[in-house]
Amino acid sequence: MNKFRTKLLIAVSIIAVLVVALEILFAQIFKTYELNQMYGQIWWIISISIWVSFIITIYLGIRIKSQYTKPIEKVTKVAIELAKGNYRARASIDRRDEAEMLATSINMLAENLQELVREQEMQQDRLTALIENIGAGLILIDSRGTINLVNKGFIDIFQVEPSDYLNKIYYQVIDYEEISYLVAEVFRTEQKVKKQLLLPLAIERRYFDVYGVPIIGTDNVWKGVLLVFHDITELKKLEQMRKDFVANVSHELKTPVTSIKGFTETLLDGAMNNKETLEAFLSIILKESDRLQSLIQDLLELSKIEQQGFQLNIQKLDLHDLLVEVIPLLDGKAMAKDIKLEFISLQEPVFIQGDFDRLKQVFINLIGNAITYTPEKGEVTVRLVDQSDHVMIHVKDSGVGIEKEEIPRIFERFYRVDRARSRNSGGTGLGLAIVKHLVEAHHGHINVKSSPGQGSEFIIELKKKWN
Ligand code: ADP
Repeated sequence: MNKFRTKLLIAVSIIAVLVVALEILFAQIFKTYELNQMYGQIWWIISISIWVSFIITIYLGIRIKSQYTKPIEKVTKVAIELAKGNYRARASIDRRDEAEMLATSINMLAENLQELVREQEMQQDRLTALIENIGAGLILIDSRGTINLVNKGFIDIFQVEPSDYLNKIYYQVIDYEEISYLVAEVFRTEQKVKKQLLLPLAIERRYFDVYGVPIIGTDNVWKGVLLVFHDITELKKLEQMRKDFVANVSHELKTPVTSIKGFTETLLDGAMNNKETLEAFLSIILKESDRLQSLIQDLLELSKIEQQGFQLNIQKLDLHDLLVEVIPLLDGKAMAKDIKLEFISLQEPVFIQGDFDRLKQVFINLIGNAITYTPEKGEVTVRLVDQSDHVMIHVKDSGVGIEKEEIPRIFERFYRVDRARSRNSGGTGLGLAIVKHLVEAHHGHINVKSSPGQGSEFIIELKKKWN
């Protein structure tokens, strides 16, 4: 627009110079030829007309500039802003002519562009959120084998830096041959490939369902391969647990059943004619059936507690009272081994919210175990400590103790440190699994302090109010 102004200035200057030159020329002609007064007047008229038309020309020039050039200047500025990506720029023109139409059109264009960009940003945000939080690892490889994208899931699983992968050829950076083969297979067959891979990650091995999907554009153009990693280690563990559980249950049931069957057959084969043998065998059969019964009871109990809709019968109860009721139930067992069973409580009553029968079951189990795993003449102490908003119950014994690495495992179903000892004492290996479930159903915690030969201490923390 500055060019226009310069051109206008030059034009005005040239016209002004021409006018002055014409005046001088006419003046000279009049002087030279000494023309009369009438010609002098004509000259004046011509001169004034020239100046008037000169002024009109300048006036029109300015009008044209303000009418057409300025709005175009404004609209051009907006167009430049739009080209730069500033879609919020708008042209404001307060005239009602073609310039206004131009401004309105450019504003509409800007609005549409802004809307398009907003939509595109929204889509982009959604896509990014989806890719990053999909809960699986993703890698996108283009048709030349270059990695274009790795998501957060992949980075978290494989503990890698995105810069180590992005814009690199996949087989040069992916450390696992199985994955590279899978990608190559997708490239070769142009078909979906699904494989279950066991991959070593740092100090552990994890199971993955890996999907390789070919990406083919609408016009049948190869765009690359998408790799999806689902970590199924927990599922595999659960599957293994289920298999172990079935194997364990079968094994636990098989032992007493085999024993009962064997002794019954021997009796039927003639041993029953001997009264002493008959009595001895029958008492073994009774013991084995007791074991079977308690195993089935514990299994039913565990399955009931683990059911989704399991409900506690919550009421206000005195924990001191509850323990006073439990101790005599185990006195006989303790006395048989000459074990000193002691209950210490400094406060009374100690009210909490809980299920009386279930908590009784917890302490019978824990105190029973303490007696079982303590040699003769040992000591078992139950201590109740009231701590304002929660209570602690310590069941401490002077027994065999547990190795540090065994402690987290003793709460697993059927896990026993010493199988023979547990079985001989009538244990099912399910007691602590039931205890843990019940304590957690009460929103409590269970902790164990133990070392071999030093005895064990099971500590239960229960909130006084939690529902
Ligand atoms: P079990 O019926 O075999 O006693 P539990 O689930 O009650 O099953 O206990 C699991 C295992 O934990 C036991 O077999 C035993 O090895 C160990 N254990 C439990 N309580 C004690 C304890 N007080 N002292 C030593 N070991 C214990």
